[in-house]
Amino acid sequence: MQTRIPALRIAFKDDAPEAMPFWHRAAHGIARKLVPDYDHRFTTVLYPVVYLPVGTRDAYDKDPGRWLATMRHEFIHLMDMKRHPVLMTVSYLLPPFGITVRAFWELRAYTQSMVVQKELGLPLDDAYIDRMMSRFTGRSYLFMLWPSSLARRVLEHARERVRRNEVEGPFATAEFWRDFVRPLLGKGYKPSSVY
Ligand SMILES: [Zn+2]
Repeated sequence: MQTRIPALRIAFKDDAPEAMPFWHRAAHGIARKLVPDYDHRFTTVLYPVVYLPVGTRDAYDKDPGRWLATMRHEFIHLMDMKRHPVLMTVSYLLPPFGITVRAFWELRAYTQSMVVQKELGLPLDDAYIDRMMSRFTGRSYLFMLWPSSLARRVLEHARERVRRNEVEGPFATAEFWRDFVRPLLGKGYKPSSVY
């Protein structure tokens, strides 16, 4: 990761505010107002810094490997921010909900999370999809993909590709037309009942 993003830095949301650039402080301040428990539950990327949740510094210092899944997810965001800085920033600043561009960026990163889940031999079952669903349709990411039937379709499509090894690690991501738009339209989508 460091090779592809030389300026990459790991920080923590409870670091002294003076240690953060001004606009990072502002972004955390706004997000804190909008997202419940923003400081404790979420890792946030503000290029080129990955901010881990409050109270995680000790755990991180002891065992950075435990953060593999998180870092692989955040790495996708970092690479996307590097490639599309303006588009990424705008799509996270805009508050609209429904079918959002934000949902596409998160789909790319959560597809990577699924790849890691599979690599670690952890389940990609319906309970896992339900947890993802709450992120895509719930308040945490400001209702970024609605209605929930569409969100489920997109996530199950991603899971199916990951299960079939069509999405290969280490840094594979979802593609806009193939993995986001097509399942939204219902084309080329096969329900998970085939398993
Ligand atoms: Zn994310």
